[in-house]
Amino acid sequence: MSTIFTQIVDGEIPADIVYENETTCAFLDANPLAPGHTLVIPKDEYTRIDDLPADVARELFATVHRLVPAVEDAVDADATTVGFNNGTAAGQEVDHVHCHIVPRFEDDAGGTLHSALGGPTELADDDRESIAADIESRV
Ligand code: 5GP
Repeated sequence: MSTIFTQIVDGEIPADIVYENETTCAFLDANPLAPGHTLVIPKDEYTRIDDLPADVARELFATVHRLVPAVEDAVDADATTVGFNNGTAAGQEVDHVHCHIVPRFEDDAGGTLHSALGGPTELADDDRESIAADIESRV
């Protein structure tokens, strides 16, 4: 069973497609958080960012880079919040990698990613250093 986003790419269900190339596709979110809320996907199905081959990841970011100013200009936004819900624990509902580009306005009530995630977590210096070393060893 293909994902709902693959069905959009294949033209099986309607969507407001605003850009596509060989590897990626961008279309308006059906439940926008703001006018112009756009999703950017790889055309092939990958569930999470870590499943993306490096060349597809590059193409995906190139499309995000191209779309951000287009979206901002189209709805006269002051900024954008750009991000991925990467995995179900992070709120990912569609198992097909997608980047949200959400237009933001000076007086909107959206807050920041920090406010959405409840603010900073207290972390001892030892723990922080150990985590940094662990990440560094895995890159
Ligand atoms: P997630 O929570 O997985 O990061 O976000 C999935 C997004 O896909 C949601 O913002 C939701 O509104 C959007 N979405 C779900 N189904 C459809 C659809 O059929 N068409 C479009 N255009 N967007 C969809």
